[in-house]
Amino acid sequence: MAGLKIGIIGAGSAVFSMKIISDLCKFPNLSDSHVVLMDIDRVRVENVLILAKELASYFNSKLTFSIVDTIKEVVDGADFVINTAMAGGHGYLDLVRSIGEKHGYYRGIDAQNYNFVSDYLNLTNWNQFTLFLKIARTIEKYSPNAWYLQAANPVFEGTTLVSTQTGIKMVGFCHGHYAVEILANYLGVKEYEWQVGGVNHGIWLTKFSTKDGKDLYGKLNELSEKINFDEFKPTNPFDDQLSPVAWDMYKMYGLFPIGDTVRNSTWKYHRNLQTKIKWYGSPWGGADSELGWKWYVEQLTQVVNVMDMFAKMVKNGTKIDKLRTGTPVDDYLKEILSDKLSGEQHIPFINSIVSKTPARFVVNVLNNGKITNIDNDVAVEICATVCGEEFKFEETLIPKRVVNWYLKPRILLAKQALDAFLNKDVKLISDILERDPRTQSSEQVEKLITELYPIVIKNMKQIEEQV
Ligand code: NAD
Repeated sequence: MAGLKIGIIGAGSAVFSMKIISDLCKFPNLSDSHVVLMDIDRVRVENVLILAKELASYFNSKLTFSIVDTIKEVVDGADFVINTAMAGGHGYLDLVRSIGEKHGYYRGIDAQNYNFVSDYLNLTNWNQFTLFLKIARTIEKYSPNAWYLQAANPVFEGTTLVSTQTGIKMVGFCHGHYAVEILANYLGVKEYEWQVGGVNHGIWLTKFSTKDGKDLYGKLNELSEKINFDEFKPTNPFDDQLSPVAWDMYKMYGLFPIGDTVRNSTWKYHRNLQTKIKWYGSPWGGADSELGWKWYVEQLTQVVNVMDMFAKMVKNGTKIDKLRTGTPVDDYLKEILSDKLSGEQHIPFINSIVSKTPARFVVNVLNNGKITNIDNDVAVEICATVCGEEFKFEETLIPKRVVNWYLKPRILLAKQALDAFLNKDVKLISDILERDPRTQSSEQVEKLITELYPIVIKNMKQIEEQV
């Protein structure tokens, strides 16, 4: 097989790079690929390069790596471009959130009904949208046959934006659907059939049965009667698939919400820390409370710091399998050194495309009729079998109640956010805020906009200037 060029933009990402490279090492038929790493943070990307080379040698893989400085250099001649970059980083998210909070918007203005995930901003992420479009247009110009794989958030708005504004081949990926396994374990079922569908971070369990076709929803219903919600004790802020919120959303909408969907509920569960604790459990109140998010960012910081330490140790001759910290990062290390795949879909997807090996994925692609009752011009998250460049999408039936009461309002918010961004129209943001339950007066909206949007625009301009 001809050697591939696979580019990773935002290659210093704490969450993704090492998992992606570890996965790549486990596909022998992709081992003659060249991986091009690009990041604006030189230290982080150089650390990834050192560790990537070491990881490849650990797995006896022939993969080669290089660092480049520009988006054009990543894209030129690439077969696949994976975007894991977060423009502005966690610092920018914190800044816009804190300005929102100063003006009375708990957890920032991007926190809206059905969109509470704290690194999934859509009203203030004009820098991130600009970066998505810049990468896509560079692909369109220099490598029109390349695939753009979107890992960076917001995947829903990002996939919709790029797929409606450019003609490139694009798929967005998220790992949220694996939470189905939590439900199966809860029921004590080992082998089962499942299907999810909806929009990213708004997916619903549309099929759930035993291998011989017995519906497992019945079993869920039986158990739901017996649950004592006061006993729910999450092991970490993200442990919410069996939280009172998930069951309450199930009762409300009639299908089980899966993965990050449980975080994307309504204000009923998010009004303040107390409310969040009641629904998502003590002590954090879920991943998106001030406590839960602090926990997460501390974990990420630890991964970045430890990667820095590991890179130095490897440079000084320590072998990657001898690195130990005695901290939770050891688990992360174990994961990338294990023979198992990470669960991220990017590399298995690339394998299915290039080696024509059929495999099932959960993909984000423009709807265009794939799920009825959902607008054609937005990205849906849907199960598909991919083989070569052919996608066989599964028929996905989502009840009207979920469509009308959850998906349609979420889709409207995404469309409005993208409209405001594309037209750079801050007035449209004010209009959204006038309908926000936290707004007490138009003066509050105006003051917020006056302080926040010059910062949003300044950050966007920085990305516009990036090459
Ligand atoms: P991070 O800040 O640790 O990493 C992002 C990297 O992007 C950093 O190394 C940063 O230097 C780089 N970067 C920032 N601006 C850049 C630019 N203009 N050009 C090139 N590189 C740039 O963030 P993270 O926590 O690893 O998250 C990365 C992204 O992945 C976020 O958008 C996050 O929301 C998303 N995410 C997605 C999923 C999923 O399943 N799809 C899961 C978790 C996180």
